[in-house]
Amino acid sequence: MKYGRVYNFSAGPAMMPEEVLEDIAAEVLNYRGSGMSVMEMSHRSQVYQKILDDAEADLRKLMGIPENYKVLFVQGGGTVQFAMVPMNLMKNGVACYIETGVWSKKAIPEARRYGEVLVPASSADRQYSYIPDCSNLEIPENADYVYLCENETINGISWPSLPDTKGKTLVADQSSMFLSRPCDVSRYGLIWAGVQKNVGPAGMSVVIIREDLLRDDLPQYVPTYLRYKTHADNGSLYNTPNCWAIYCCGKVFRYLLDNGGLEAQAKRNEEKAAVLYDFLDGSEFFRATAEKNSRSLMNVRFVTPSQEEDAAVIAAAKAAGFENLKGHKSVGGLRASIYNAMPKAGVEALADFLRKYEKR
Ligand SMILES: *Cc1c(COP(=O)(O)O)cnc(C)c1O
Repeated sequence: MKYGRVYNFSAGPAMMPEEVLEDIAAEVLNYRGSGMSVMEMSHRSQVYQKILDDAEADLRKLMGIPENYKVLFVQGGGTVQFAMVPMNLMKNGVACYIETGVWSKKAIPEARRYGEVLVPASSADRQYSYIPDCSNLEIPENADYVYLCENETINGISWPSLPDTKGKTLVADQSSMFLSRPCDVSRYGLIWAGVQKNVGPAGMSVVIIREDLLRDDLPQYVPTYLRYKTHADNGSLYNTPNCWAIYCCGKVFRYLLDNGGLEAQAKRNEEKAAVLYDFLDGSEFFRATAEKNSRSLMNVRFVTPSQEEDAAVIAAAKAAGFENLKGHKSVGGLRASIYNAMPKAGVEALADFLRKYEKR
């Protein structure tokens, strides 16, 4: 790898495409003759407005976002969305949350501050190693929405297909699979994604929301900044946005468009993940923890026969230049996050390393 960079398997913040970083580096002191860096630029300037407009237009093109959806760039990262979703979408005060791992579990108590939360399906019985059957969920008539985490970053599982929400609004946390494959936005009421997993720098979420879900009748206590409508009415410029993150995300949107869009990216991701899962399936020492039809293509979780062996592999891998293979502290084991920007060569090198380690 150029510049002494390493294969970084971090779950987030995570790798960005090298070409994008080079492009950003070339513009960092003087953005296209403006005489200043994007970091130093007024968010009300014409130059910045174009960066913002282009980012939104490119994302719309990439995902095929219908006209009746707003694209918002909201500060505060993923955790803020755990609160914003119920604050903005609970009208009757009832929502259904599907519990599939650490991140959907975290969203539940946050939503309970604002109303009743029902859990019509869970995969807790087998340590969140699979997506439960959601073809016939018990969803009450007055439920405001059905919420899911489309890729559980920590548990390494992903939804093979969307649930039947019985006509209720579907809300998805796409943080760790955003832009990893084509997405039919019209099936969702709201999609949100913290960008530091698959797109850009930390501290911001992209929110894609159907216009009829933007409300004027929110409870008085909902802060101005935490109303989706505030951001929608002001084109994500109600206050100073995370200008730098939006600029970097825009670069990644353009990069994906220039490289065949989401179909091509999905193909690359499938090929990459297959390299690792095929190795794990054939191994007698390592074992993938996710059940086959729920496997994440972004976060590959695996274990050895013991915690001591896990730690030994992680240390040996680090010494060989494979960074951040330690599983999340809440679940242990190993995890290779192989988002869009991880080159196939990186995954092949890792599988090779693990194969040799097993032989030894
Ligand atoms: C990382 C992550 C979050 C939390 O994002 P923060 O920006 O750290 O608050 C939420 N959901 C998923 C699926 C994640 O991977």
